[in-house]
Amino acid sequence: MELHLFNTLTRTKELFTPLDPPQVGLYTCGPTVYNYAHIGNLRTYIFQDILKRVMTYNGLKVKHVMNITDVGHLTGDRDMGEDKLEKGAEREGKTAWEIAEYYTEAFKKDLKLLNIVEPTIWCKATDTIGEQIGLIRKLEDKGYTYRIGDGIYFDTSKFENYNKLSHQKLEALEEGARVEKNPEKRNATDFALWKFSPPDAKRQMEWPSPWGVGFPGWHIECSAMSMKFLKERLDIHCGGTDHIDVHHTNEIAQSEAATGKPFFRFWLHGAFLIISGGKKMAKSEGNFLTLEASFVKKGLDPLVYRFATFQSQYRKPMEYSPESVEAAKNGLLHLRNQVRTLKEIASSTGDVDEGFKNKFREAVNNDLNMPQALAVVQELLKSDLDPAAKLATVLDYDRVMGLDLDKIEVQQVLPDDIQTLVDARKKAREEKQWDLSDQLRDQIQALGYEVQDGPKGMKVFKP
Ligand SMILES: [Zn+2]
Repeated sequence: MELHLFNTLTRTKELFTPLDPPQVGLYTCGPTVYNYAHIGNLRTYIFQDILKRVMTYNGLKVKHVMNITDVGHLTGDRDMGEDKLEKGAEREGKTAWEIAEYYTEAFKKDLKLLNIVEPTIWCKATDTIGEQIGLIRKLEDKGYTYRIGDGIYFDTSKFENYNKLSHQKLEALEEGARVEKNPEKRNATDFALWKFSPPDAKRQMEWPSPWGVGFPGWHIECSAMSMKFLKERLDIHCGGTDHIDVHHTNEIAQSEAATGKPFFRFWLHGAFLIISGGKKMAKSEGNFLTLEASFVKKGLDPLVYRFATFQSQYRKPMEYSPESVEAAKNGLLHLRNQVRTLKEIASSTGDVDEGFKNKFREAVNNDLNMPQALAVVQELLKSDLDPAAKLATVLDYDRVMGLDLDKIEVQQVLPDDIQTLVDARKKAREEKQWDLSDQLRDQIQALGYEVQDGPKGMKVFKP
């Protein structure tokens, strides 16, 4: 079975084969830990999780590295402005190290709630300062760097095809880069490799270097870490579409300039989350929704969000609204009920149906087409295959979907307070006290349980 992925570098869907099968080296740009991730960020991590699970489903062995940016990312993205971590520290009256620690944990908790498989290697930028300095020295030896007042910069005019990832004209990239004026730079697109600490103030995070005390630029960490942990196995590099023009373009330039060899072969980018009104979700837009506030605190299963993202292919913008959340909630509930029913009626353990497995794999192997994959799931569940085979097959699909379908219980033992309400409602129904029955149903549901009245009586379960 062949896996096809859309490669931003070539702007085409290409057949993916790892350099050294069955091993795959995957690098995904991680969070800058100065604030919570918003659900638009998390959409990107869900897409990367699907990519990883699909590769595993195809028998590949994925080594996944994710960085934690805990220094060097400035408010302007282009080496101007304040350090996001130091600014966060000031905002919250903590040290930059405490801020990093706190938001790293919050991020990991979000991933867990979304059933995102942890990377093989987590790596903090502040743990690879030596490697980053080493890489900058290499670039310096090869004549790609120059020094100005606030740091050591990469001269993008010395790197041919600087715009090969973004496919934009160089002038357009320069135009974008001019928003932040640094008159000392030779070219608008040049970027910092090493920034000096301000002469008049001591930073919380700073290190000695051959050029002076300071801290690394944002882009160099990802080049240093991917080379350190993946060595030559540079198969796939992922991020959000907002990484294409600056961050990933600069990673490619500095990495290929330093090694003289091609950097990653495949570049995959996840599209934005769009909220009502057509705006993309971004911290800077002030429409910042966290998983905690939008799901956990509302008693909504975070996996509803995971399921919601499957409704759009990862390269297409995803609309987010109360209606889309409601639709995903109902869709996931329906799927879980279908699986619960199968568990109730399947008399034996079945085998995965190869025909349906191939259909599903064809969908996900087609550039991770999850909407198509969900259509296959429903086709399977509506087919006349025997329940045991259906169940085995849908649980096999869940290795990719990650919706905890294997954890659905047929007979749930209810907590005492819920059981009391259930008993009261049974009695009310026997006595045809319909208003009371409805009230009790609302009470049970308010406590996070689903109530279904069917021919066999009332079913109550945690969805
Ligand atoms: Zn990165």
